[in-house]
Amino acid sequence: MSTDSLPEYRQSFRDRPRPGHTPTGSSSTTAALKRTGPAERAAVVDLAAIRHNVAALRSWVQPAALMAVVKADGYGHGAVPVARAALDAGATWLGLAHVSEALVLREAGISAPMLAWLHTRDTPFGRAVEENIDLGASGWELEPIAAAAQRLERPARVHLKIDTGLGRNGCTLEDWPQVVERAAALQEAGLIRVVGIFSHLAVADEEEREAETDDQLRLFHGAVETAREAGLRPDVRHIANTPGILDRPDTHLDLVRAGLGIYGLTPFPDRPASEFGLRPAMSVTTTVAQNKAVGPGHGVSYGYRYRTTAATRLALIPLGYGDGVPRPALEAPVSIGGQRYAVAGRIAMDQFVVDLGTEDPAVAPVGAAVELFGPKSGITADEWASAAGTINYELVTRIGSRVPRIHVDTQPGVDAGTQSLPGR
Ligand SMILES: *Cc1c(COP(=O)(O)O)cnc(C)c1O
Repeated sequence: MSTDSLPEYRQSFRDRPRPGHTPTGSSSTTAALKRTGPAERAAVVDLAAIRHNVAALRSWVQPAALMAVVKADGYGHGAVPVARAALDAGATWLGLAHVSEALVLREAGISAPMLAWLHTRDTPFGRAVEENIDLGASGWELEPIAAAAQRLERPARVHLKIDTGLGRNGCTLEDWPQVVERAAALQEAGLIRVVGIFSHLAVADEEEREAETDDQLRLFHGAVETAREAGLRPDVRHIANTPGILDRPDTHLDLVRAGLGIYGLTPFPDRPASEFGLRPAMSVTTTVAQNKAVGPGHGVSYGYRYRTTAATRLALIPLGYGDGVPRPALEAPVSIGGQRYAVAGRIAMDQFVVDLGTEDPAVAPVGAAVELFGPKSGITADEWASAAGTINYELVTRIGSRVPRIHVDTQPGVDAGTQSLPGR
């Protein structure tokens, strides 16, 4: 099999134009929303928040450059519109796990520097070289990358990855001298150019574990030194993710790789995003699908994990684990008509129930606006994540393809300018 065939990358329907909506963020999206009313169910992504967050993080890390990490469809927010918004606000690189993800952005006409770092034998390295996509390499990848470069008569841009402790991809310290020698030889032969050296932090989100991050940094600087001794002169050294950006200025180096923070989410369990002046970009919304009166002792959803204790009304919310709403999130918060309630009973594939605690039919009628989380209700993805026993990263990334992403721009034309994070 040719390694250069572009694997089919499922274009989700969220990227296709829908009647009444423009697909990506422009002020006309907002206008379209006003015309058609709220979507049946939506993950509304505010591109103004993305720009604000990128500008804030950028001012925090300067003079280091900022790579906006938009892997996994921009953590579920829509990679193409998020990438464009991030570049508008001063990001100068885009980061992806897979080459196939980077190719989707190139096909959308985005020409910014891009780095993809997780490869298999079937990765289309040749397409990456043709499309000027930088490639992370831990060792074995150097050979297929060099072979593709030779075939195309064009040097590949490579970032060597050193494992400073995380234990995932990256070259071990033991193998590093050999890998660096090989990279230097391939560079000498004109097949690759080593433009970067990078690593990834393991515990920077746990503030009491500074010493382990210190160790990683020390090993990283040593690895860079070894590469320099082998004659490599990388343009950029990078190790910081969002926790490093927010809590460890000594990790910023030449370039930071910002994922979670650009979406307005916090990596720290005990420090909300607002503490850093970050604004959550995503709201998950729908409307009440049914509202009915029931008596006391009425079972609610599979297993009767919840029973009403008095005469009340139940509101039916048409989102479930088929939409990425995590089934374990018993008692997670939900906002209906601006009022906060809790999930009652099991979350099913398509729906869950809220006990409204009132017999008043005017409360949360069919069609009332529902927000699971988002800036309007003030409910955070963190609250849902902790109810589900997971992290905000997973929660937003797994919102399902049955929930259309709708990109709005609450501040069209404002590129966020220079903003700074409030004191830490
Ligand atoms: C996902 C990822 C990032 C981004 O991490 P955040 O904590 O979301 O900022 C950075 N670097 C690598 C290698 C990653 O895989």
